Amino acid sequence: MPSETVVTRFAPSPTGFLHIGGARTALFNWLFARANNGKFLIRIEDTDRARSTQAAVDAIHEGLDWLGLSPDEDPVYQSKQQDRHTEAAYELLERGGAYRCYLTPEEADAERARAHEAGHAFRSPWRDRKDTGEGSFVVRFRAPDDGETVIHDEVQGEVRFANKTFDDLVLLRADGTPTYMLAVVVDDHDMGITHVIRGDDHLVNAARQSQIYDALGWGKPVFAHVPLIHGDDGAKLSKRHGALGVEAYRDMGMLPEGLRNYLLRLGWSHGDQEIFTDDEVIKVFALDAINKAAPRLDLEKMASVNAHHLRDADDARLADLVIARLESEGAAKKPAQKRDQLIAAMPALKPRAKTINELADQTAFLFASRPLEITGKIAKSLNDDATERLNRLKDALGALDDWSAPALGDALKAFAEEEGVGFGKVGAPLRAVLTAGAPAPDLSDTLAALGRDESLGRISDQI
Ligand code: GLU
Repeated sequence: MPSETVVTRFAPSPTGFLHIGGARTALFNWLFARANNGKFLIRIEDTDRARSTQAAVDAIHEGLDWLGLSPDEDPVYQSKQQDRHTEAAYELLERGGAYRCYLTPEEADAERARAHEAGHAFRSPWRDRKDTGEGSFVVRFRAPDDGETVIHDEVQGEVRFANKTFDDLVLLRADGTPTYMLAVVVDDHDMGITHVIRGDDHLVNAARQSQIYDALGWGKPVFAHVPLIHGDDGAKLSKRHGALGVEAYRDMGMLPEGLRNYLLRLGWSHGDQEIFTDDEVIKVFALDAINKAAPRLDLEKMASVNAHHLRDADDARLADLVIARLESEGAAKKPAQKRDQLIAAMPALKPRAKTINELADQTAFLFASRPLEITGKIAKSLNDDATERLNRLKDALGALDDWSAPALGDALKAFAEEEGVGFGKVGAPLRAVLTAGAPAPDLSDTLAALGRDESLGRISDQI
């Protein structure tokens, strides 16, 4: 047991939906907290008032809830912590870690350009002035001049940055508002964050933030920068590759536990195990097993991981998800009325689908209304021979007491034997009249799912 309670956080900027990369970051933070009996917190980084929206905040919360990654405490809103950020900036002024810079934005830009052209980092002339300027000022960080900033990253290993490459950055703007770099440090400190797990696009920020921690005399969290997800062609992930909000994956028919498992394996491994329950992962999840190479998003793999979880999922839950799907598509009339039938058929249906949407497609045969419209090749296969045989089959099935899948399977086999034909001669026409060519499970399961009256009715309709 670590002596300090692990506290992690997911800190999205609410400028859009919870995208797949963010979801994975949240998942790693959540898992690491769970694996260490710690806490998982959410901080909404809404200081960019122009780009932050309530709709995005809602979408992020909904996405996290759906994924089952709810935080252990109420979310922190960065915009509400401004006074603390300001306080820290003034503390830095007092400690000499920052200074008032009276350059106008234009002067600062020109100075910075000149410094960069000369091959060194930007230092404001106000850095070493003892006098006080006039008019408005920004509070600027006094970046260390010599030496290196070293990040001991749990994923990236030891990463070294030469301090002389860092500009003196603004901590408080002329209007008194804090900048992102300051806000993150103060919030992580105040929230007691012990581990910062986030995308590796923040690795350079970690160096800057580390300098600010040092200047404030604060202890630093452990950093773990996770490689960003790439598209299947290895390029940076974009919408074209499926970089969508998590609700898009829900609408594709993924289960939350399926998506979680897929995202987990995207860049993290434990031997060659592919399928994990939450309990299994929580036992073994460690940051050093996160891969250094950028993983690629693979929707087919996602669906096949999802298929495993679909098979393990509760039948009533799946029936409800299928009903919701059918209702939203308007694909079936009052699908909820067949809930019990769906639940009973689920063990036969679910091994045949990778997603809820495929599962819903598999149930279309249940919702078809009589008489089924049978056309094309299938209609042609129902010749006189076949319909006469169906007639005899109808009587044989009608005489059954037990309408369960095993009993129906036996009866079909016995009937084919009696008729002296291969099973296909019985099965093909029966399947045609029961489903009109819609996907369906084995005939015995299909008959059982439809029930006696509906099955016999569908046969009668066509003979
Ligand atoms: N708000 C930042 C982002 O959405 C994350 C900052 C952090 O995790 O430190 O990229």
